[in-house]
Amino acid sequence: MKFYQSLILNFSTKQNANLAFHVQDDPSTVIQNHQRLAKELGYEYKNLVHMKQIHSNIVKIVDQNDNFTNPPTCDGLITNKKETPLMVMVADCSPILFYDDVKNIIAVAHAGRAGAFGNIVQNVIKSFINDFDSDPKNIKVEVGPAICQKCYEVGVEIVKEAHSLRLEYAVLQKKERYYLDIRAILKKQLLHESVLDNNIKISNICNCCDDNYYSYREDKKCGRFAGIISL
Ligand SMILES: [Zn+2]
Repeated sequence: MKFYQSLILNFSTKQNANLAFHVQDDPSTVIQNHQRLAKELGYEYKNLVHMKQIHSNIVKIVDQNDNFTNPPTCDGLITNKKETPLMVMVADCSPILFYDDVKNIIAVAHAGRAGAFGNIVQNVIKSFINDFDSDPKNIKVEVGPAICQKCYEVGVEIVKEAHSLRLEYAVLQKKERYYLDIRAILKKQLLHESVLDNNIKISNICNCCDDNYYSYREDKKCGRFAGIISL
């Protein structure tokens, strides 16, 4: 059970302050926020790999060029390296943490509408299987606080796109308004990749409804909170 003792798995809140460098916060303040969080959770902040997130479905295996000051451009990261925390930053999108405690592999993914529509979850699970020889039945998944369906109104174009991708089950219509359920999409995609229902934990916290989290829909200049996982 050594693995469980050493695994770090956490979702930050507003108390940990903003962790993103692209939201016009002073970089030295952002670094201090990272240092504080790292101390709290017990890792070296300089060992952390985060991402230049671009709302894609690109998943990258961490290599020697990836580090705190040189984050790779992608929306998913996977590694078997110890003491190499992975971080996904969000404010409405879903932060997803994955781990296989048999093969000792961890991954993170950023899934907003684009990531969910592009099925980034499938690419992460495929990397576990193809690059690290994981059995999907051993992969545990935690989806952190993200925007709930009630808060996530979308336009007709998005609804059309959802229908073309056969995701109509995730669209709720109330009179002339449409609401999208990203969690439902992620859950279905994970099950489709043979992740076990019992191994999927989806937070019911909505970062938009709950004041402890940043929300881009609420404030376009908001910070980012994060999901962090480390071996
Ligand atoms: Zn909400």
